[in-house]
Amino acid sequence: MTSQRTRARMVERVRQQGVCDQQVLDVLNSTPRHIFLDEALAHRAYEDSALPIGHNQTLSQPYIVARMTELLLASGPVSRVLELGTGSGYQTAVLSQLVERVYSVERIRSLQEKARQRFGLLKLHNVHLRHADGGMGWPEKGPFDGILSTAAPRQVPKELMEQLAIGGRLVIPVGGDNDQELIVIIRQNDGYEQQIIEKVRFVPLVKGLVR
Ligand code: SAH
Repeated sequence: MTSQRTRARMVERVRQQGVCDQQVLDVLNSTPRHIFLDEALAHRAYEDSALPIGHNQTLSQPYIVARMTELLLASGPVSRVLELGTGSGYQTAVLSQLVERVYSVERIRSLQEKARQRFGLLKLHNVHLRHADGGMGWPEKGPFDGILSTAAPRQVPKELMEQLAIGGRLVIPVGGDNDQELIVIIRQNDGYEQQIIEKVRFVPLVKGLVR
């Protein structure tokens, strides 16, 4: 269930679903998704679905993780990335193998602590974590070449747009519970360009901290 063959089948499905960035597919192929789940669910890690990680939160479907990563990297190599919603840490782990540094913010402490252990296990040393409400970004560490949110605000927080470097890309689901779209915002010299990618379903971006 957790073998390389099962993982390779997952990657093949993601490719068929339309993800074509080979470096993203390679990282999916080499990253053990099952260690990002509690033991009782680990056998389902390579299914084509989102999975619960506790606290009413979910680890996104493999396709969505790959697609968002591909969109973040679409303008070329990326050095500093901000992620909102560390959750299980799987998306963080994928990013950390493709960019120089990942700054990841999570509001639920216990999820963050489990994710931290997983990064240690995989020896991913370029991940920097913060227990905070990420809705305002992480201004001290910006500007970022990429910002990726794995929770959906009703509207794009302007603080996030402001923390993008010129040419930087913000990949974020936006909208209410049953009506969300994945969008990409690209910062240009004189403003922002926006692309709507597809309908998605994410947990909401919530204010405040959980110990
Ligand atoms: N990237 C995660 C997805 C987790 S689901 C993974 O691969 O597993 C979204 C996460 O966003 C949850 O862990 C949730 O607690 C977190 N979140 C929601 N609102 C937040 C906020 N305002 N600041 C930081 N994290 C937030």
